[in-house]
Amino acid sequence: MNKPPMLTAAQALEQLLAPAIPVSELESVPVQAALGRILAQDVSSLVDVPPLDNTSMDGYAVRVADLVAHSGLLKVAQRIPAGSIGTALQPGTAARIFTGAPIPSGADAVVMQEDCSTSPEVPNQVAINTTPTAGQWIRRRGEDLTAGKVALQAGCLLRPQELGVAASAGLTHLPVKRRVRVAAFFTGDELSLPGEPLKPGGIYNSNRDTLLACIKALGCDATDLGIVPDRLDATRAALREASRDHDLIITSGGVSVGEEDHIKPAVNAEGQLNLWQIAIKPGKPLAFGSVRKQADAQSSTWFIGLPGNPVSSFVTFLLFVRPFILRLQGRTEIAAPTYQMRADFDWPKADRRNEFLRVKVNTEGGLDLYPNQSSGVLTSAAWGDGLVDCPPGQAIASGDLVSYIPFTALLS
Ligand code: AMP
Ligand code: MG
Repeated sequence: MNKPPMLTAAQALEQLLAPAIPVSELESVPVQAALGRILAQDVSSLVDVPPLDNTSMDGYAVRVADLVAHSGLLKVAQRIPAGSIGTALQPGTAARIFTGAPIPSGADAVVMQEDCSTSPEVPNQVAINTTPTAGQWIRRRGEDLTAGKVALQAGCLLRPQELGVAASAGLTHLPVKRRVRVAAFFTGDELSLPGEPLKPGGIYNSNRDTLLACIKALGCDATDLGIVPDRLDATRAALREASRDHDLIITSGGVSVGEEDHIKPAVNAEGQLNLWQIAIKPGKPLAFGSVRKQADAQSSTWFIGLPGNPVSSFVTFLLFVRPFILRLQGRTEIAAPTYQMRADFDWPKADRRNEFLRVKVNTEGGLDLYPNQSSGVLTSAAWGDGLVDCPPGQAIASGDLVSYIPFTALLS
């Protein structure tokens, strides 16, 4: 039997992303309903933000040149709270002003009230006790957003702060990509669902909850097609069903080349498939291909088959399925950030494969390692808060700088 080629993680990712194109359909949703969606088009601000020069402090609006002429003593000629407009500042006067209020014409600086003194004996007079610089404590019109200029760029993930920017730009609705639709099923005759009795030699299906939650965390619609028995006909039937109305099918298990592994022949019969061996640990085998849609033989649904071991399927989802989904979503930022962190552990035995170790940031700013790194021990990922990307052939000694990727960055 021909051994499939061994790919590096980077090569596998490149081959995976090359044919993936973003979904084209978009919809307009109210800003309040847009959290976690992907912006489909650039949007521009309707207004200047802030709309006028305004003060960022409670204090007195002044003309700097007047202060020398009047030895710092000015007449308080007007009062401008936020939400109202003052009048032009007359020479030798100051305006009492409050945060957010527009700067009156003629004023060129604000002095915060802590640097001023007033006396009940001389009402309507303020002593300015500092020499302000021109422009101080003034927020300029349009310094945040400019009317007609792009406020948010297509392809961005809409987080709370982007929703706030949209609102400050005066927008009520945003154009977003339609949600990517992902179907998942789980192969293995040994699998039971929690709540059912375990079969002899059986285990509970944990990949279902991990993978469906990963799919949802990325903002996709997730369809659970359940456990599929280790039979070719059942696997083919599940693929045909999953190909309807979905952009992507994810499976776990059955991607090795044993007699009980039916993913490869099933996907080949219903579409086409490449079975890859990726030089990573955990998660060596990965299947990538497509399944013909029954209704339209010209179009197909993407297929990614993950290994069955719980840590392997989780890690391969984060490394390969996540970027693939982000590409389908039309996101511009696909790569998760990597941070250089200090290892507070030893990993003396280098592996030929690129290892992804489950670690946790400690209070000293270093990384601790979960002692059991077996691909079946999912508690390593629950204990950890991220992965160390350990290059092939590299051992780690305590104190070394290593590449750390937080789970939070991989699940959004
Ligand atoms: P496979 O990739 O099908 O050869 O499975 C590899 C290992 O992962 C076996 O020990 C399976 O029992 C286990 N496994 C497969 N699918 C699941 C699942 N959905 N939940 C938990 N363990 C699984
Ligand atoms: Mg199996």
